[in-house]
Amino acid sequence: MSTGAVGGRRVRVCVLGPSGRMGQALIEAAVAGDEPDVVIASAVDRAGAGVIGTAVASDVIASDDLAYGLGAAQVYVDFTTPASTAVAARAAVSRRVAAVIGTTGLDADANAAIDALAAVAPVVVAANFSLGVNVVLGLCKRAARALGPAWDPEVVELHHRAKRDAPSGTAIAIAKAIAAGLEVDYDQARCYAREGDVGPRPDGQIGVVAVRGGDVVGEHTAYFFGKHERVEIGHRATSRTIFAAGALRAAAWVAGRPPGRYDMLDVLGLA
Ligand code: NAD
Repeated sequence: MSTGAVGGRRVRVCVLGPSGRMGQALIEAAVAGDEPDVVIASAVDRAGAGVIGTAVASDVIASDDLAYGLGAAQVYVDFTTPASTAVAARAAVSRRVAAVIGTTGLDADANAAIDALAAVAPVVVAANFSLGVNVVLGLCKRAARALGPAWDPEVVELHHRAKRDAPSGTAIAIAKAIAAGLEVDYDQARCYAREGDVGPRPDGQIGVVAVRGGDVVGEHTAYFFGKHERVEIGHRATSRTIFAAGALRAAAWVAGRPPGRYDMLDVLGLA
């Protein structure tokens, strides 16, 4: 696979949110050499975070100085919050730093900031960096197309109790893949919640249900309910390592690409 690591030189990466669950997984994966084409060059967390001033990797002290962190890197990797994703993308524009963004629940402001960065630098944005989930997205689109509108699609996702956004970005991506397979408008078809006397299930609906509890890393199942039969396409993540390894692979891939907004299917060559 072609990557941005030119002539054996490793791609310098800034990790945002090194104290977070994903930030820690990213640093562990990089230090373990899971992606030999990248090296952690800097790490930036929010002002006041306990990690500031501590060593997170060899020769890397976590800082709250975003300008410094971005200045030390060719690519930054962002698994934080929508608000801090917007701030980082805006700060990266003048330096044209490439980005790998995994934060989910992105709002209009964060998406506008990402688009502004993607106009001048290459940016990979994905709700899920695992190979398995990206294969599931393709399978769900094909299943929806093959089964057609007479089958009722429902997506169920399970995550740990600390997850902030619902439904998960991955569940939304799966539901969008189903909508694309059925050639229907996603916003018209989606149903995120049911309560009370909702009546029979309408045709053309794509249901999405979020379950929260414990320490579940992430589970997604797409159900297609037909008459007397049903199809289930599912994925279970048992470790954040898969997302970290995928994000580091994306960091190695994105360095040196033309400006633009890419997704994990581009990185994996599945687009
Ligand atoms: P977390 O709460 O454990 O970590 C968030 C980190 O962001 C913390 O270290 C926090 O201090 C830091 N942060 C907050 N504001 C900041 C700022 N202004 N500057 C720098 N850092 C800041 O959350 P998590 O479980 O690691 O998840 C983070 C995000 O990644 C969520 O949106 C989650 O849904 C998403 N996620 C995506 C994937 C994927 O494959 N795309 C996988 C897992 C999680």
